[in-house]
Amino acid sequence: MDKQIILFPMTKLNHHYQKLGSNYIFSEIEKRVEALKIKLPRSSILNLGVGDVTTPLYPPVIEALSKATQEMGDKKTFRGYGPSEGYAFLREAIAKTDYSNLISPEEIFISDGANTDIANLQEIFSVDNRVAIPDPAYPVYVETNVMAGRTRPLLKTGRYGGITYLPCTEENGMQPQPPYAHVDLIYLCSPNNPTGLAMDKELLTRWVNYAKAHEAVILFDGAYEAFITSDAPRSIYEIEGAKEVAIEIRSFSKSAGFTGLRCSYTVVPFELKLRDAGAIHSLHSLWKRRVETKSNGVSYPIQRAAAALYTPLGQKAMRETVQSYIERAQFLRDGLKQLGYTVYGGIDSPYVWCKTPPKVTSWEFFDFLLENAQIVTIPGIGFGQEGDGYIRLSGFAEKSVIDETLIRFKNLA
Ligand code: PLP
Repeated sequence: MDKQIILFPMTKLNHHYQKLGSNYIFSEIEKRVEALKIKLPRSSILNLGVGDVTTPLYPPVIEALSKATQEMGDKKTFRGYGPSEGYAFLREAIAKTDYSNLISPEEIFISDGANTDIANLQEIFSVDNRVAIPDPAYPVYVETNVMAGRTRPLLKTGRYGGITYLPCTEENGMQPQPPYAHVDLIYLCSPNNPTGLAMDKELLTRWVNYAKAHEAVILFDGAYEAFITSDAPRSIYEIEGAKEVAIEIRSFSKSAGFTGLRCSYTVVPFELKLRDAGAIHSLHSLWKRRVETKSNGVSYPIQRAAAALYTPLGQKAMRETVQSYIERAQFLRDGLKQLGYTVYGGIDSPYVWCKTPPKVTSWEFFDFLLENAQIVTIPGIGFGQEGDGYIRLSGFAEKSVIDETLIRFKNLA
């Protein structure tokens, strides 16, 4: 008897993932560092590429974490599911300390990382929206929009069709400028990773005005706000009217060493409304609906650990650690400047953005530093086309590593 062939409809993939370029920058860096270790097995390699923190969790955080863990082991104090949007004790502490109660606790959503929320926020917006993204920028902005289907394929230029790139070049002060054309969703990061530059009040005001005029929404990534030492705004809500157009995302990762613990928050103001299909919609309600459906929140001990950052001891520890990273970044920046390099950042940010010598690409300069001084950096091209011609160095590295880096740079001269 003939075998009957049954044809099932095939499971289809999200074909937008096929558009993604390979996430090769970090694996390529690792490959080149490994090759150097084989070539020069006795060399001491200085890693200035890391974007991760090096200072461990602060004592008040550890204490709160242990206490909350003990509570979870006691029948009387055990807690099961918490509120999806986060415990009131943490939301209230954030509203009071970070926003002087100009933002209410109900407008704050606790999450397990800025990365998570940056990736998920776009879900409440249509895929038809035109997105604007600074170049260079944290790669997650571009890649999550590619995954969502908001772009066309990768072009030969290394950019995706369908995105409005906002070039940050020396000509425009390395800052993203509002475009002439219309865009719907705008990613801004201040201080920006990788350039290390914070946006000033005047530029942020222009962005808020643009968003109002175009009925656009700004996704403001403030993951590094704690590092601002200049008078640049720490929050977009310092700009009049920003609550009507902006969502702000912040993280405890870099300011409090939470990269491994995971905790962040997102502010979606009540005033933020969008006109669509003849009706006015609250983005706060939409995001709340999304969080309640798709998340059961961040664990109780971790939220207690984050709340400990708002005690006087927690605030002091955070200030001191951030200050020490900033000092390292400034030392690195000043040292490179004295050696004749053109550098940006390192004042409001742990990152220093260093221009490569004339006609030298970011990968060429990366290789040169690795081969000749055993210094690991990040080639700027990893953050966008405008990043070529720059490398990023990190002030999160230990002070001794930064001292030695400057000595080796000097010896190259
Ligand atoms: N935003 C920027 C600009 C970053 O550089 C990073 C991490 O490096 C993040 C967000 C992610 O932060 P989190 O650790 O809270 O996910």
